[in-house]
Amino acid sequence: MKQEKQFETQSQQLLDLMINSIYSEKEIFLRELLSNASDAIDKYRYLSLTESEKYPAKSHSIRIDVDKEARTISITDDGIGMSLEDMEKNLGTIARSGSKEFMEKLEDAQQSEDLSIIGQFGVGFYSAFMVGDSVEVLSKTVDGPAHRFFSEGKSTYTVEDAEFDTVSGTKVIVHLKEDKDDLKYSDYLETYRIENLVKKYSDYIRYPIKMLVKVSKQDVDDEDKPVDGKFHDEIEDKTLNSMIPLWKKSVNDVKPEDLNEFYKNKFSDYEEPLLSLNVHVEGLYTYEALLFIPSHVPYNFYSDSYEQGLSLYSHGIFIQDHYKDLIPNYLRFVKGLVDSDDFP
Ligand code: ADP
Repeated sequence: MKQEKQFETQSQQLLDLMINSIYSEKEIFLRELLSNASDAIDKYRYLSLTESEKYPAKSHSIRIDVDKEARTISITDDGIGMSLEDMEKNLGTIARSGSKEFMEKLEDAQQSEDLSIIGQFGVGFYSAFMVGDSVEVLSKTVDGPAHRFFSEGKSTYTVEDAEFDTVSGTKVIVHLKEDKDDLKYSDYLETYRIENLVKKYSDYIRYPIKMLVKVSKQDVDDEDKPVDGKFHDEIEDKTLNSMIPLWKKSVNDVKPEDLNEFYKNKFSDYEEPLLSLNVHVEGLYTYEALLFIPSHVPYNFYSDSYEQGLSLYSHGIFIQDHYKDLIPNYLRFVKGLVDSDDFP
């Protein structure tokens, strides 16, 4: 049964902003959707450690599909998925701690007409409305039926039962807006554009981001020898990202800009960090760590809602956020992550 629901007031404000901002970096919507897809797979993998029957281990991937005629770009993951309640709670409201600060900054920014901060923040799912005039989400958890969320970014959204052929996962379908003189949304249907965006923002995502791309191949003769000057098109299922987490790359291969971009993205900050440390330690314990000192005091630093601690990874797999024991109390303003193969 199709139900129409009202967005929460704050969500409504954020949505209006996404839709109406005359803001140039609309491209970040892809980074946000891919990061959600990756988080959803992390959650699946985490559960499969303890509930392996319900969540059997598998090799995950994220898929990007474009349909030029329908003007859609879709991002599909085989992660944990959402139930009907999850959809309403997660997509109908903004529950994130960073969003309050974001809304405050945004009011300042609107007054000074500097909207550049939007792209620097992790604005999440709603950023899809910067490029889409409607957004559809199909999702299914391992033990429930599939549902469809649909919204045109106005005050309401609908949810209903749906068909979605997967064990668990989510597909976000963005129906791109019509092109305007200076805003060519149809660019996001072009392979080269998508490949560039994935490289720019999402290269370190640890699951393959795949897309069917047309490649030109040289013809071969009966003996499998290449024929000069003769080419044909083939469709290749291409993995667009290198999948190497930033902290696993050799220190010399990581540029300061990469660290800054990573920090802003992962810790939802609009400002670059004051200091970044990229640490690789080998010895009794082997670990890599990325540590950042924010350039401003987090808005909730002095309140109970501030969560200190670093993110914990093992073998490149996300284990836990805000792990307190990794950093002493007096350094609780430090953000970052630690990854070690020595954790059990
Ligand atoms: P954030 O990812 O920062 O929490 P978002 O607005 O991007 O904020 O997403 C809100 C919530 O919706 C997420 O926390 C998650 O619970 C849920 N969600 C979004 N995308 C997906 C997805 N692809 N699979 C499962 N859950 C998702």
